[in-house]
Amino acid sequence: MPELPEVETIRRTLEPCLIGRAVERVEVLRPKQLGNVTPADLERRLVGRRIEGVGRRGKYLLVHLEGGEVLVFHLRMTGRLIFYPEGAPVTPYTRLVLGLTSPAELHLHDVRSFAVLWLTTEDKVNALPGLAALGPEPLEPFFTPQELKAALAGRRSSIKSLLLNQETVAGLGNIYADEALFRAGINPLRPGNSLTPEEVNGLWRAIREVLEEAISSGGTSFRDYVDGRGRPGAFQTRLSVYGRKGEPCRRCGTLLVGARLGGRSTVYCPRCQPLS
Ligand SMILES: [Zn+2]
Repeated sequence: MPELPEVETIRRTLEPCLIGRAVERVEVLRPKQLGNVTPADLERRLVGRRIEGVGRRGKYLLVHLEGGEVLVFHLRMTGRLIFYPEGAPVTPYTRLVLGLTSPAELHLHDVRSFAVLWLTTEDKVNALPGLAALGPEPLEPFFTPQELKAALAGRRSSIKSLLLNQETVAGLGNIYADEALFRAGINPLRPGNSLTPEEVNGLWRAIREVLEEAISSGGTSFRDYVDGRGRPGAFQTRLSVYGRKGEPCRRCGTLLVGARLGGRSTVYCPRCQPLS
């Protein structure tokens, strides 16, 4: 699933392509993927409007249009949002096509069809169910170690589950939660409230570092993810633990182990991330 660095990379690659173009045509090929709008309303509200910006909140991508309309995408498992300057043929997995001016198209391509899009307005975007509950943006300056400390205080769930919970911090998923915990030397199974102030500081730093490095590499292409121009990322070659269960730790050589936490897999180094 695309996490913060992948959605941010899609945002950065799409924005220069989309800004200033107007929507000329809306083709909904799978109406079930519309979260709160009918195909007819989507067409009525989008056609003729110019795209003014592309934003991101957590794992949500926001396309801002003139007149205050906002298209919100969540790509879930296999969603891809790709800009084609000359247009492109529809495939069996194309779920939505936005025909744009001076011919260009934006396609939502989605093998498993879990991606969702909503249409809302600037004044209501933060009230959309998924967005309303989001915690702080980890790369914003106002995300401080104190804020992370406060979010973990009194929480007995495992630190890994707390990091996956979008209310603690927005945009982390399985890949970057595992990577940040490894970098901070914290065992994913430890209760959130057992972390010392130094450990919370280290985790805060690790979260920001790993996200920034992943964005610089264009994200992690483990299975489906590509950027807004269809290009894979490169951070998969730099992962320390995610997807490496049974392989030697890059730091100490100990074999990495896996665990299940709330139905999600987690991988860590038993030596660099001791449980006690
Ligand atoms: Zn190790």
